[in-house]
Amino acid sequence: MLKVEINSRCLKDNFLLLGRKTSSKVMAVIKGDAYGHGLEETARSLHQAGADRFGVGSVQEGARLRKCLENSQIYSLLGPVYSEDYQLLDRQRIIPFIHSWEQLKTLKEVACSFRDKVPVVLKLETGMNRLGFRGGDLQELLEIWESCRGLKLHMLASHLSQADSVQGRQEVLRQLDRYKDYCRAWQARGYVFEKSLANSAAILAHPETHLDCVRPGISLYGDNPFEHTPWAYKGEGLAQAMQVRAPVLALHDLKKGAGVSYGLCFNAPRDMRMAVIGCGYADNYFRGLSNRGWMFYQGRRLPVLGRVCMQLSVVDATGVNDLCPGSQVFVLGGSGAGGISAREMAGWLDSISYEIFCSLGKNPRTHSRAG
Ligand SMILES: *Cc1c(COP(=O)(O)O)cnc(C)c1O
Repeated sequence: MLKVEINSRCLKDNFLLLGRKTSSKVMAVIKGDAYGHGLEETARSLHQAGADRFGVGSVQEGARLRKCLENSQIYSLLGPVYSEDYQLLDRQRIIPFIHSWEQLKTLKEVACSFRDKVPVVLKLETGMNRLGFRGGDLQELLEIWESCRGLKLHMLASHLSQADSVQGRQEVLRQLDRYKDYCRAWQARGYVFEKSLANSAAILAHPETHLDCVRPGISLYGDNPFEHTPWAYKGEGLAQAMQVRAPVLALHDLKKGAGVSYGLCFNAPRDMRMAVIGCGYADNYFRGLSNRGWMFYQGRRLPVLGRVCMQLSVVDATGVNDLCPGSQVFVLGGSGAGGISAREMAGWLDSISYEIFCSLGKNPRTHSRAG
């Protein structure tokens, strides 16, 4: 029974704040249903703030987005996966990231029947060791590319593995060097294209990686990749757009020595007041928060007691006198000091803010037009 509220004003302000940190073009990354914030609504808000480039997670997501944004540039960060994806590229004007020979060969064949040349982003492997053409592929790639008459090179892109670590700067610079070597080889053959490397953390901390186009994701949603590090000031001003609330279902006294919920794995150290909250792992609330998470109500932190169940959780409400059945507590967010950030919650779970947003964002959402 979780309710997710997305503050569109925060999304817009975050986009504008990031825009002030760079002179490059900005591709707003809204893959994964905009990190759980809602693909179409998020894109519309960002578009109102001036965004005209969007990175989506799949060609299918791109086709959905095209229905609400007629003229923006849409990039599919994963490129075509299924055969039906290839036709959509042309019909919905989606620019694919291409990372493999198989994709390139199929695209080359289908592009013969397309109206226009297909703009392509080639994804290069520079250190992440995941997807992308490798250094050793370069000569062959250049040769094959010259036979791809239906395609035109729009951008060379790569992705950073350690931009969000204060200790990772050396590796960022190593990847940047490798990436620039690649670009020089293409430029030497006379190609003109955009260069793109930076994610959120690199926008904030590594200006030399900005190049022609930056690709912020998590920071648009208000997460500061450097929260709780010496570089926290670099992400100052970002505001979390997602808040999540759950209802109080019941309140009970708990006698000293009484156990709570499955396994009775919380044992009251003194007389307490407990509140039963209507959320659990069926709502993508995290069972890993059993006995270690917190909720938030009117300036106070409420510790989770015992196991998080399928639809129920229990919190310590001792001394919180105005809490009653029907009250709503914050599971994520909440205003003022003590509001719960996705990054903080991720810390309780040995996870990352991205997963918190994607998981909780699967619940029913509303978008406020505040501001
Ligand atoms: C997800 C993604 C991004 C955004 O990364 P953040 O860390 O969320 O800013 C940028 N580029 C690519 C290729 C991505 O897949």
